[in-house]
Amino acid sequence: MVKKPIIFYLSHGHGSGSDKGAASGRFVELELARKVTKACYDYLLKQPKSKRSWRVTYKERLVSGYTLAQQAEQIKSLQNEYRTVSIDIHFNAGGGDGAEVWTTNRLGERKRLGTELGDSILSNLKKSGQNSRGMKYSNDLYFINTPSKGVSVLVECGFVDNKADRKGFDTDKELKAYGEAIAKALIQYAEKHE
Ligand SMILES: [Zn+2]
Repeated sequence: MVKKPIIFYLSHGHGSGSDKGAASGRFVELELARKVTKACYDYLLKQPKSKRSWRVTYKERLVSGYTLAQQAEQIKSLQNEYRTVSIDIHFNAGGGDGAEVWTTNRLGERKRLGTELGDSILSNLKKSGQNSRGMKYSNDLYFINTPSKGVSVLVECGFVDNKADRKGFDTDKELKAYGEAIAKALIQYAEKHE
């Protein structure tokens, strides 16, 4: 049986209504996450079409205003044609230091593949200078547990309220590097699971 192609469904966290996510001083989660997500998308689009076995889609939540539930429906509707891999990009607050990736804690293929992709995202972020807090698991986080088919990860790139951590992402160049690091992990994942 021929496998369905992979489609990456990118989104930045927050952005519906007045939700800007976490903020500390001039560091606003929504703005940072949008820049990282856009850089990830641009890097993926730059790959030669002849080399892509995968597709990518990115609709800015801030612009289109869709809710998480509508997003889950969009992802589900892609699953007749594709294996969906959805990536929601965030920044954290709470004074920690480094990046972490969340995926479902329900045992099975989604957890196994989410962990594989998350580990790769974290090791690529390390190469761009960020440190890793490792994989995190949840049965409750909506994004990674809905829809129930497909792989979903939620990336927390760093802590907006930690001065040491945000030295790593206080320029557009660094935010771009984070986005490209995530894109490289996605390409590696697709090549392995073609
Ligand atoms: Zn967030």
